[in-house]
Amino acid sequence: MTKGLIVVISGPSGVGKGSVAAGLKAQDPHITECVTCTTRAPRPGERDGREYHFLTKEAFEIKKDEGYFLEYAFVHGNYYGTPRREAMALAEEGRTVLLEIDVQGGLNVKKAHPEAFTIFIMPPDRDTLRQRLSGRGTETPEQIALRLQNAEAEMDRRHLYDARVVNDDLQECIRRVAGLIDGEKKRQNGI
Ligand code: 5GP
Repeated sequence: MTKGLIVVISGPSGVGKGSVAAGLKAQDPHITECVTCTTRAPRPGERDGREYHFLTKEAFEIKKDEGYFLEYAFVHGNYYGTPRREAMALAEEGRTVLLEIDVQGGLNVKKAHPEAFTIFIMPPDRDTLRQRLSGRGTETPEQIALRLQNAEAEMDRRHLYDARVVNDDLQECIRRVAGLIDGEKKRQNGI
């Protein structure tokens, strides 16, 4: 059996990380996603246990102190964290485990698990990012402003990732990310 691989996917809010992850999962049954935890409120249509495990701040803090998270971060005013046991169990099954997490979290995963593969998704330009964020209609203007501000800080650290891919055309972006993951799996398995 080939070894599992933890793949961190980061990039500014609105860059299309979710669509890239969905595309990767749709084309390869070995690729799965680890559902992470958050204290933010569910968006319309989001279900507990599917997009996120939605936790209260109190419940999150207890789990954080218990060492429940592989990494956690405070992002755009809320806590987000990756359940350690869930992520590691999926990797031990030999799966490719996508972690769609922010840059602080992504770099912490890399520090703790240098064998993890980190990919940064970039927008073609700032205007496209702004349009995508406004267009999805899930954030208030204040929340959009905060996310755009955080996008700058995230972009500044993209060079710390193993690979960078621009999401101009979604299908092309998925194809390139899939190719990178495949190459890394072969490299780690000595193929
Ligand atoms: P959103 O609120 O748009 O779902 O997510 C906001 C940001 O938090 C995104 O950049 C997302 O990738 C990141 N995020 C989601 N789950 C986690 C997690 O478990 N840990 C960290 N560090 N970031 C996360």
